[in-house]
Parts: sequence; C-alpha cells; structure tokens
Amino acid sequence: MVERGAATRISLAVLVRLALVILTFVLIIVLIVFGAGKLPTVFGQLGKGVRTFRDEAEKKDSEPLASTATGAAAAPGASKYCSSCGKPNANGAKFCASCGTPLAA
Ligand SMILES: [Zn+2]
Repeated sequence: MVERGAATRISLAVLVRLALVILTFVLIIVLIVFGAGKLPTVFGQLGKGVRTFRDEAEKKDSEPLASTATGAAAAPGASKYCSSCGKPNANGAKFCASCGTPLAA
C-alpha cells in the first residue's frame, strides 16, 4: 500500500518533469524550424486556426435551431430542396436561401 503510493508520487513527479522537458523540446524545435522571427506569425496562424475551428463548431451547434425555426415557415409551394442543408426553396430559386449553395436545375 505504502509502496504503491510512493510509486504513484514518483511517477507523477516524473510525468510533470517529462511534460516540461517535452514542452522545452517542442519550443526549441519550433524555434529551429520556423526561426525566432517567425514565431509571432506561427502563433498568430495557430490562433486563427483555433478561432475558425471554434466558429465552425458554433455554426454546427446553432444550425439545427435555425432549421427548426425557418423550416416551419417554409413556403408550401416550394419544391427545390437544398442538397447541402435540405431546406426547401422556391421553384425559381438558383441558390439556397438559407445556406447559399447553388441549387440543381
Ligand atoms: Zn441550403
């Protein structure tokens, strides 16, 4: 019991140290590969990527709500269904009214 606890404590300390070593290595590799001057650009691009990813995730979250809101109010005569989002569109529509995807003739 005591031995096990000591072992866990040791491995945790080792893990923390390992994480620090890995982080340092990654930073050094990033510095070597991209150069110190490009570091702000790299991190800026990383931030941009994270932001786009978050935007996409939010869009996906809010889309089902929007579809239920506009789907009920759809025109009764609509016969063109969007291949991308599945919402009905007017007969003469060339683009989906909700997502902008070109509609097939
Ligand atoms: Zn659509």
